[in-house]
Amino acid sequence: MLGKTKDQKPKTKHQQLEGGFFVAEGSTPLKRIAGTPLLGDTPPQYVAHLPSVKARCGLSDKAGCMQRGYYFMKYIYGPVKSRRLGFSLGITLTPCKICSFNCVYCQLGKTINTTSERREYIPAQEIINELKPWLQNNILEAGDLNYITFSGSGEPTLNIKIGQLILDIKKITAVPVAVITNASLLNVALVRQALSCADLIVPSLDAVTHEIFTKVDRPKEGINVEDIINGLMAFRKEFKGKIWLEVMLIKGINDDLVHARKLKDIIDKINPDKIQLNSPVRATAEDNILATDKKKLEKFKEILGDKCELI
Ligand code: SF4
Repeated sequence: MLGKTKDQKPKTKHQQLEGGFFVAEGSTPLKRIAGTPLLGDTPPQYVAHLPSVKARCGLSDKAGCMQRGYYFMKYIYGPVKSRRLGFSLGITLTPCKICSFNCVYCQLGKTINTTSERREYIPAQEIINELKPWLQNNILEAGDLNYITFSGSGEPTLNIKIGQLILDIKKITAVPVAVITNASLLNVALVRQALSCADLIVPSLDAVTHEIFTKVDRPKEGINVEDIINGLMAFRKEFKGKIWLEVMLIKGINDDLVHARKLKDIIDKINPDKIQLNSPVRATAEDNILATDKKKLEKFKEILGDKCELI
């Protein structure tokens, strides 16, 4: 097994590098880079990290950096210190940006291909071929990981091999697997079954009425919020792991208190382990998307009850 075993505690301290990446304290930058930038289908925030990597190894191009021992990975990013998940190694299962939603608040920009078609957008074996050497070459960081997280450049459940990938990862490491999903496919029994071996699912639910749902999440035609809610309730009954439901609030769109009470009724039926209330802090797909102010977030939290936390 590579990485952490179930009882292992983190052994290393980490120092933060520019771009939000972390390396083990006292490590040699060239060999001990914990996070490696994505190239190719890379979200812009990860590409932005590349110049600082080049600067640290004193080389000016990708080929030179690779000769000196950097790994340039297409599908793995981080580890990043995540507000929600702790120290997390990310894996993207779709090219940027393929999603069943086109959320107004998406920090990856507008969706290029809004689809609900499930395909092997990125071959599962290619992802394992990147992950395995990363775990072997970054033993300390791997030991400190809280999660290997499927998220990245689009909606991970669109990759039809997601279930196989979770099983394959579990054969090579004991690091828990988390999946961040927009929940749009949870009404499909095969998708729920595929996610059943994960340890943590972080689905989102930004609205419970059709009108608000289409304004915030702008789904692929044919996806409706009632199916998503039914999918979440069915998943809760079947899934043995943890469910942390995320609600993203946008000022003036889904943050009025009437909507908060409707959300509360539905969320009680879904019965997640935690509710994480969020509001955009980074650049969004559309202009004029504003965060809900602190006071209102507190009020929302109060309505949603004890399981709710502000992120
Ligand atoms: S579901 Fe996630 S990736 Fe897709 S558009 Fe919304 S925020 Fe972006």
